Amino acid sequence: MKIDFNKSTDGLVPVIIQNYLNNQVLMLGYMNQEAFDKTQEIGKVTFYSRSKNRLWTKGEESGNFLEVKSIAIDCDNDTILIKAKPFGPTCHTGSTTCFKEENNHGFVYELEQTISDRIDSDDPESYTNKLYKRGINKVAQKVGEEAVEIVIEAKDNNDDLFLGEAADLMYHYLILLKAKGFKLEDVENVLKSRENGPRRPE
Ligand code: AMP
Ligand code: ZN
Ligand code: ZN
Ligand code: ZN
Repeated sequence: MKIDFNKSTDGLVPVIIQNYLNNQVLMLGYMNQEAFDKTQEIGKVTFYSRSKNRLWTKGEESGNFLEVKSIAIDCDNDTILIKAKPFGPTCHTGSTTCFKEENNHGFVYELEQTISDRIDSDDPESYTNKLYKRGINKVAQKVGEEAVEIVIEAKDNNDDLFLGEAADLMYHYLILLKAKGFKLEDVENVLKSRENGPRRPE
């Protein structure tokens, strides 16, 4: 991989970090040759910090490392794109990404973000996080249980119980999406791609 570290006089090349599962942009930093070599050597994103004036392995204090999954360079070899697995929030503010866009999609998207934050910050008080830590199979099982419950309530005539189960299902479904590394937006994109209307589920 031939990276042009000398295009800029300071020997630094911008590096875009994306979540390898959903391509969410997490942060941008700079690397010199040394930082790039170290990144490959230890498998954790290591920048050259312009404020610290030294190599900076992201997560060195917080433990919120970025584990390298793939490295690519752009068309003219002066920008690096790294897909990584983030451990905890990437931004020092505690946000998943340094580019957290405002959420104007509505409450369900806010809930999705809250669920994501509880998990990323490993909140010990949070039911969401505790369930998440029991693993994908457990989360999926909960979704299955809630799905059965909404079916049962759909056959009854109690609106309160039906809505309650509908809420339970949506909540657990959001946790499952998160556990699988996806976002509601990914589901939306699949739905949008079905141009000729909904297909019959197989
Ligand atoms: P960390 O590398 O996560 O251990 O964080 C160490 C220090 O680096 C923090 O106290 C911040 O000053 C800074 N820092 C961490 N993450 C970021 C980030 N995503 N963008 C800018 N500065 C950061
Ligand atoms: Zn370029
Ligand atoms: Zn940040
Ligand atoms: Zn339920």
